[in-house]
Amino acid sequence: MFNSYTTTTLQYDPSLCIGCGVCADVCPHAAFEMKERLAYLIAAQACMECGACQLNCPVDAIRVESGVGCAAALMRAALTGKKEPVCT
Ligand code: SF4
Ligand code: SF4
Repeated sequence: MFNSYTTTTLQYDPSLCIGCGVCADVCPHAAFEMKERLAYLIAAQACMECGACQLNCPVDAIRVESGVGCAAALMRAALTGKKEPVCT
């Protein structure tokens, strides 16, 4: 599992969740898991701040400063020749 962040801007308010499951479906790093129609943030450290969960949550239960996470890591890996993209 990709684990480049020890802290992220990701914030989740479970009191707003209506259990649609979209965040778990769209997250490329399985940060969310559904249990009994409620999303659980089970791997915040895996978040690359892509913003997909925030963009797709119908009740704005998720906040994240997105826009550079994966893209920055991939560009840095390409420029430095590293095989494993790492966000810093
Ligand atoms: S911002 Fe992207 S990587 Fe982070 S939890 Fe949301 S969907 Fe997953
Ligand atoms: S997308 Fe939003 S409402 Fe849907 S399960 Fe995730 S946190 Fe809950």
